[in-house]
Amino acid sequence: MTTNARDDTSTFADLGLRPELVNALSALGYEEPTPVQREAIPPLLDGRDLLGQAPTGTGKTAAFALPVLQRLPAGRADREPIALVLVPTRELAVQVSEAIHRYGHALGARVLPIYGGQPIGRQLNALERGVDVVVATPGRALDHLVRGTLALHGVQVVVLDEADEMLDMGFSEDIEAILKEIPEQRQTVLFSATIPPRIDLMTRSHLRNPVRIEIGREAAAPGEAPLVRQRAYIVPAPHKAAALGRVLDVEAPEAALVFCRRRVEVDELTETLNGRGYRAEALHGGMDQQQRDRVMGRLRSGAADLIVATDVAARGLDIGELTHVVNYDVPSSPESYVHRIGRVGRAGRGGVAITLVQPREHRLLKAIERVTKQPIVVEKLPTIADLRARQLELTRAALHESILEDELDRFRVVVEPLAEEFDLMDIALAAVKLAHEASGAAADEEEIPEARPAPDDGRQRAERGAQRARTAPGGVTRVFIGAGRTSGIRPQDVVGAIAGESRLSGRDIGAIEIADRFTLVEVPDSAADEVIAALRGSTIKGRKPTVRRERYEPGARRR
Ligand code: AMP
Repeated sequence: MTTNARDDTSTFADLGLRPELVNALSALGYEEPTPVQREAIPPLLDGRDLLGQAPTGTGKTAAFALPVLQRLPAGRADREPIALVLVPTRELAVQVSEAIHRYGHALGARVLPIYGGQPIGRQLNALERGVDVVVATPGRALDHLVRGTLALHGVQVVVLDEADEMLDMGFSEDIEAILKEIPEQRQTVLFSATIPPRIDLMTRSHLRNPVRIEIGREAAAPGEAPLVRQRAYIVPAPHKAAALGRVLDVEAPEAALVFCRRRVEVDELTETLNGRGYRAEALHGGMDQQQRDRVMGRLRSGAADLIVATDVAARGLDIGELTHVVNYDVPSSPESYVHRIGRVGRAGRGGVAITLVQPREHRLLKAIERVTKQPIVVEKLPTIADLRARQLELTRAALHESILEDELDRFRVVVEPLAEEFDLMDIALAAVKLAHEASGAAADEEEIPEARPAPDDGRQRAERGAQRARTAPGGVTRVFIGAGRTSGIRPQDVVGAIAGESRLSGRDIGAIEIADRFTLVEVPDSAADEVIAALRGSTIKGRKPTVRRERYEPGARRR
């Protein structure tokens, strides 16, 4: 972070937020601000403009939403919004408005998402009744402006969220037109995962002397990186608990620390894990030292094998016996990741760090890799077959150990009479079966659907009604072309441009997905660089659109 004045233990109240907001956050189970919140909230409360480089998963939504809500007068009844948040996609519009609604519930905040694809009538009624915060995609916001149904002259704060995505999707002109309608005496906030030159330009023309913050700027000091095998699984939110269970069943850790973001998740997950036969203990920020000591004692004595904790609760714990650290949520900053996984792999003992990542959080994972300068291998979740194989392996290992311990004589009375009647192999197989079943090896598991880390988070597709030709197989790279249907691009133009400029033929080209403002095309990994270079050097339909690797490459670094 560029401004690093605030110490790491500040609370939401320390940041200057009003009590209604502090209470709402506490009820949601947020124990402390994330780094981006710690850095962004105070200057935003002071009315400063801000440029934040932070991907999804860092807590950036609350970082801009809370200062907006701080401005709301109690019982505000005016019709026109005081804040406008522009986002690239409909999913994000819904998600951001839900978050603002949750934070601002006690203040009676009226939040309205507006996006294409939803009947405009409903939006008109809500605008008519009056709103405080509008969260909109640029296209639909402009439609409302043109119709005269959205008035922006009362807007005090404008937020451009995921600004790089908005520019990539061709929203630049729409954004410019919208900003012209907002009074100059406003606060302008821009969040972007990356800061390419066009974002820089936008910042210079629309932000006044902005505070700049950046997540994950500091690289980990050399020698700091612990000896830990790092792995990640891409899992959509609804499957996370099942996925964690599966991973733990396969890993069978001796002592693991599982980190969650929020207190409520700690409770829920502890319950779920106990229901699955693990001996899990919850560790809360609110617990006193005695309670914490008791929990730790259970882990040390082997009476518990998992501790589920928030960062705050786990601070200061010294657990020498840990074999695994699991991030049930991606930590909100690379520093926090380094801190968490540093709890295993001490004194050269090695250890395992596992992170569950939601498809839309993959950029944060990349930011973490950049800082730690260590790869985090994205793996496929173990299947039921993997799990069964692993469980049999564990049973075999347990039997092996038991044979070596050589205290088996007292069981002769069982085996010898059976041996008169049955083959020794059959007796052994039956004994193994009983031992295996008694170990609690799960039999009625359900397969967890494989998550495709949607390169566009599945968002643009939903918003723009893109067509999907085929599903990408492994070994392909998706190439993003910043022009789509509205520029008249057709599949044959894409095939023509690639086949004409590279050594690929039409047959080598995979699925082509044409949305209104961009196109995604799958090409073999081995030819991706060549195709990108060729397309950058050529024009498509008379235009020179942005061409780049899609940010998440499904084929890369997977098992
Ligand atoms: P965002 O980066 O805004 O998409 O936020 C990522 C997730 O972090 C969301 O699920 C939030 O509910 C959660 N979150 C945001 N701030 C905090 C916090 N201070 N403590 C715990 N969770 C948080």
